[in-house]
Amino acid sequence: MADRGLAQVDPAVYAAIVAEQDRQAGHLELIASENWTSPAVREAVGSVMTDKYAEGYPGRRYYGGCEYVDVVEQLALHRVKKLYGADYANVQPHAGASANLAVYFTALRPGDPILGMDLSHGGHLTHGSPVNLSGQLYQAAFYGVDVESERLDMDRVREKAKAVRPRMIVAGASAYPRQLDFLAFRRIADEVGALLMVDMAHLAGLIAAGLHPTPVGVADFVTSTTHKTLRGPRGGFILSSPEWGKKIDKTVFPGLQGGPLMHVIAGKAVAFGEALGEDFRDYQTRLLANARRLAEGLRDAGVRLVSGGTDTHLMLVNAKHSGITGKEAQERLARVGITVNKNTIPGETEKAMVTSGIRIGTPQVTTRGLGLAEMDELAAILAGVLKAPAGFDAEPFAARVARLTRAFPLPGLDADG
Ligand SMILES: *Cc1c(COP(=O)(O)O)cnc(C)c1O
Repeated sequence: MADRGLAQVDPAVYAAIVAEQDRQAGHLELIASENWTSPAVREAVGSVMTDKYAEGYPGRRYYGGCEYVDVVEQLALHRVKKLYGADYANVQPHAGASANLAVYFTALRPGDPILGMDLSHGGHLTHGSPVNLSGQLYQAAFYGVDVESERLDMDRVREKAKAVRPRMIVAGASAYPRQLDFLAFRRIADEVGALLMVDMAHLAGLIAAGLHPTPVGVADFVTSTTHKTLRGPRGGFILSSPEWGKKIDKTVFPGLQGGPLMHVIAGKAVAFGEALGEDFRDYQTRLLANARRLAEGLRDAGVRLVSGGTDTHLMLVNAKHSGITGKEAQERLARVGITVNKNTIPGETEKAMVTSGIRIGTPQVTTRGLGLAEMDELAAILAGVLKAPAGFDAEPFAARVARLTRAFPLPGLDADG
């Protein structure tokens, strides 16, 4: 068995992986929370480190044989602290959701009031939604965007915080296209005696490159994913002060998780190393420029964007303004080879599986090499599809998408993996 490859051992799984590779190569992925990891990151994640149990932390493990997994966890810790200028990090959270839970379990008691961003205004399920543990364990209240500007109004956030008196304020979003003012959140938290957690899952790459203000040194806790703009393997991490650090370490293990995913931590170490490299800032700069250009192109073509544009890697299209639901927009774009996700928008009137908008982001297509000229073409395709009459002919649009995917192949992706 040892020398037989996946294709021989398990043709069904192999075929699905190859099909997924082809799907990624043959589509334009505009899902704002996705990216395309380097072959080096995938090599680390696909390594024998998946076999190792390593409960505990480097130098303090409950198992023998941890000398090499200790090396990668130390590298990951060292690099992520350097990347963000943080004094403490934990790289063991399996995902962004687990990182958030770990902070809540560390700093809150069940029933404590928390204040997060409204889900339909761009917040995340783990910021107090009733369908998530965070909304069941804690008493959650929400702030949202101003109905006119569709941006956060920090005076309104302050009013809400004064009314709610939360033990913790959560700042951070999954579908908010504008910069977040972490210093204003800090001032409000101080005013009402609350802790501040910033969930920078979406912004982690921009912040690492210095292209969005940093929450490090401002918030009590910073949580993140590694797989969005930061372009690492699927996972999470936490930054904080060393004083909180001891408690956070205990919450992550043994409080919440068992053995860490050492293969993923190896991938995180590689990705943090890449983010410290010279090309990374250039990538993040291009990613932002692409988002801005795409937003301008869409706006010029008469597509309505929530808040009118973007300061980040993502934008929200008001599909209803073009006469269709978010679900229909997602389905139409799938027919031409473009992948997006339907998304609720401020003032949402449709159910979560229908919605009135779509979220669009440029991380993956920028990794692929698309630039400003391609953003103009992409805006024309998107606007054409969104505004087309029902029963439109998808073929000419699909041909234009295919020209782009062929001109910008995903390097290193072929049937042999
Ligand atoms: C994506 C995201 C998460 C969750 O990350 P998972 O790895 O999917 O658990 C948490 N918070 C925000 C703001 C996110 O965008």
